[in-house]
Amino acid sequence: MDKVLDYYEPVVGENAISQLRQLARDLQGARVVHVNSTRVGGGVAEILGWLVPLMEDLGLDTSWEIVEGAPEFYQITKSFLKALQGNKVPLTRRMLDTYEKTSEENAERLRPTLEDADFVFIHDPQPAALFDLCPNRKGIWVWRCHIDVSHPNRKYWTYLRSRVSQYHASIFSMPEFAQSLPHPQFLIAPSIDPLSQKNCELVDGEVSSTLMHLGIPSDLPILTQISRFDRFKDPVGVIEAFDLLGQSTPARLVLAGGGATDDPEGAAVLKEVRDAANGNGRIHILELPSDAHRTINALQRASTLVIQKSTKEGFGLTVTEALWKSKPVIGGNVGGIRQQVHNHHTGYLVNSPQGAALRVQELLRNPVRIRQIGERATKFVKENYLLNRHLREYLTLMLGVRRGLTNHLMTN
Ligand code: UDP
Repeated sequence: MDKVLDYYEPVVGENAISQLRQLARDLQGARVVHVNSTRVGGGVAEILGWLVPLMEDLGLDTSWEIVEGAPEFYQITKSFLKALQGNKVPLTRRMLDTYEKTSEENAERLRPTLEDADFVFIHDPQPAALFDLCPNRKGIWVWRCHIDVSHPNRKYWTYLRSRVSQYHASIFSMPEFAQSLPHPQFLIAPSIDPLSQKNCELVDGEVSSTLMHLGIPSDLPILTQISRFDRFKDPVGVIEAFDLLGQSTPARLVLAGGGATDDPEGAAVLKEVRDAANGNGRIHILELPSDAHRTINALQRASTLVIQKSTKEGFGLTVTEALWKSKPVIGGNVGGIRQQVHNHHTGYLVNSPQGAALRVQELLRNPVRIRQIGERATKFVKENYLLNRHLREYLTLMLGVRRGLTNHLMTN
């Protein structure tokens, strides 16, 4: 289905759509470029997959570019993600040289598009160096940080800060992530597309046929974590929690995920997960292709409970996706999961495998509570985390920053 705003009217209402069209009036024809490091896999690609076409539908001339590099570049950008989320990772001059050289190669290719754009949104650290490498830029540059940078490794942050300080503004997902930067910082939470293959209603029988196709019996309650195989998602901790359930709480665990093209560590983590599962026939580890959106949709709908036991999480779109499908979420008590999972209301926050196991046991014994939480969860997402709110905040930011700069130029 083409992404056209009018299709969303039955879900978000006529007023929400007309408000977006009104806000976009002053931005007609504006050239907007989004830049990240992958078209598939992970939350940023998921968001840009609808944000770009819908901005286009609103009359903004919008495109999506990615930075690319050799495997060493992705190793380094992965180190950035780990270190900025608080891990201890060395940073060497050689790493920075490779990062800067690859950034220069990307700038060579992207410079005409970026320098000509009215608005450039640079997503996460991977493309951050492009600003300095586009000296003839004429538009507004915004750094959009999707990760949890509340306690970054200082060395990495100092370097990244020097790259993003000159931007006109930055966006973080949570107040706790905001940093000391010499420009306005905006807080915008991510959101989901309710009509995408990942989140749309499925046809009758599709959930059960997907389970059958994947070889997952529907004899027991299903607990699911959908995630890239990444240590911050703590898939091994999920298996520990599952093992703690014991005989008294029979269930199946599905750990499903694929790789993102910019994540070099997936295979190693997947091996750790297989080792931890130790051949348990009730643990289903699925490696999914990057376009398995409908399969993930069906898995989330087939689940009795969804788990997202991350130890760091910028936001956690998988949480939003599960809540939208009326599933209580047992989530790690970190980052953006805290914004979405409220104890007793939309699920439970947990700090350990033991905590997760206790909450799973408690809920599986209480189907009425599962239903009540599920109903509240859908409403909560509808009110807070659907794409119309997200688009509105992008548009108001663009209008606000542009006006602020114009005023500044007039008074100076
Ligand atoms: N996802 C996917 N396939 C996978 C694993 C995840 O399509 O194998 C999707 C998932 O449904 C969600 C996004 O990728 O839409 C992950 O976003 P999230 O914010 O949860 O985590 P991130 O990967 O960005 O850290």
